Amino acid sequence: MLDEASLVADLSELLSDRQVLSGAAARRAYDCDAYTIQRRHPDVVVFPHSTEDVQNVVRFCVRNDVPFTPRGAGTGLSGGALPAEGGVVISLTRMRRILEVDIESRVMKAEAGCPNISLTRAVAEWNLHFAPDPSSQTVCTLGGNISENSGGPHTLKYGVTTDHILGITLVDVHGEIREFGGKVAGFPGIDLIGLIVGSEGTFGVVTEAWVRLTPNPSVIRTLLASFRTARAATQTVSDIIAAGILPAAMEFMDGSVVEAVEAAFNTGLPRNVGALLLIECDGDESAIAEIERTKQIAQRNDALTIEVSSDETQRAKLWTARKKGIGALGRLAPSMVTHDGVIPRSKLPEVLEFVYGVAAEKGLRVANIFHAGDGNLHPIFLFDDRKPEDVVAVVEAGERVMRRCIAEGGSVTGEHGIGVEKIDLLAEMFSPEDLSLQEDIRAVFNPGSLCNPGKVLPSQKSCVEVKLRSRPIPV
Ligand SMILES: Cc1cc2nc3c(=O)[nH]c(=O)nc-3n(C[C@H](O)[C@H](O)[C@H](O)COP(=O)(O)OP(=O)(O)OC[C@H]3O[C@@H](n4cnc5c(N)ncnc54)[C@H](O)[C@@H]3O)c2cc1C
Repeated sequence: MLDEASLVADLSELLSDRQVLSGAAARRAYDCDAYTIQRRHPDVVVFPHSTEDVQNVVRFCVRNDVPFTPRGAGTGLSGGALPAEGGVVISLTRMRRILEVDIESRVMKAEAGCPNISLTRAVAEWNLHFAPDPSSQTVCTLGGNISENSGGPHTLKYGVTTDHILGITLVDVHGEIREFGGKVAGFPGIDLIGLIVGSEGTFGVVTEAWVRLTPNPSVIRTLLASFRTARAATQTVSDIIAAGILPAAMEFMDGSVVEAVEAAFNTGLPRNVGALLLIECDGDESAIAEIERTKQIAQRNDALTIEVSSDETQRAKLWTARKKGIGALGRLAPSMVTHDGVIPRSKLPEVLEFVYGVAAEKGLRVANIFHAGDGNLHPIFLFDDRKPEDVVAVVEAGERVMRRCIAEGGSVTGEHGIGVEKIDLLAEMFSPEDLSLQEDIRAVFNPGSLCNPGKVLPSQKSCVEVKLRSRPIPV
């Protein structure tokens, strides 16, 4: 492979020197995403301004046999954007233009580096929004959402990213610009958009996309209930779903999250509670009756307090803990790892107790904040990454929780992807035949694995530099 100096010189000529970053800054800032346990630094980072810039970079990488890794905002939670074999990181963050809005057809075309929230802001005056709303939405990008098939609080009712993508422009691994789908739904043939969405940046670089826009509901009611125990809250979730109610969002936060939010922001949440549930019903007037029914179910599960929003200001206040919860947890420990499993919703009470048990056994603090309605579990292990024994404990605890999710008929990821984090666990979910079929499909898009190597499939293990992680390094 070319050395760093040659890469910088050649890429600066291809783009401009203001679009190329190297040296200590690039190495430190781009050696991981929000999963900080595994790291590998890039040789160089480039910032294309257009699909043609991306095409030039990819063609250069292919000619010189240099691995390349697409990257959005780097908020991924499974190591998807870390450059597992070094090479070039292609950061899409300067491609953030809204290209076309068609209000009548309720569609929009945008560049992949647009922050998620900017799509909604661009059409707010027409009472429309982009429905996928990861909790990182103020920074995470459209390209990252597409690659991870991201969810969010409101995807319980409105569906995950794949349900809102109509067309994709992709620079493929040969450096060709390819168009899939377009402005209208229902292109015939095999659903290639369905394959690209969720491929975690291993099928090429997404540069633009047509997205669906969703009308804002005319009525929204939000309820915040507190419970003495996490079990009472998760039982409420199961009971609401069993009653046939489909809230727009149903979010769980445990006592540790409440403690962290109150220490940071003093928002007036009830103290000394086991858990909070934030439930939102929306649509037409029927949302008012639905929220009343959820309130009754929460009361039957001995809710300690229940507050229902009657206006937008109160609604925003009730959402504060959920929106600021993960950030506030940063006060409790120097490092955190957020896991992401899925279980049948009816199993939430017992699996959550299992999570607390594993944490206690390993001597770790754990906080839980997750999209309960989807059966997502996001145990956040809090630790000190300066202590190697803590890192080992966190990795082992995470694996135990994920194995329990598999045993319950669930999955090792609901929305955060496999990346490098879950690569060892995939073989426990799929048969060798299933994995080999997935490898064959990937080989069609990415023969030779120059695009984001070392990710998703177990055969793609790579030389990730494992910082502070002392279990055997996958090679
Ligand atoms: C506080 C916090 C809250 C979060 N909440 C949620 C949540 O509610 N729901 C949820 O699903 N996730 C959540 N996430 C995870 C994360 O924000 C999402 O996965 C998000 O979609 C990643 O977007 P990104 O731009 O940061 O992508 P990155 O982290 O930069 O990249 C993610 C993956 O996408 C690939 N990629 C990025 N851009 C492109 C592109 N243009 N073309 C091809 N591949 C590309 C990368 O190679 C990588 O594999 C959260 C993360 C944090 C830190």
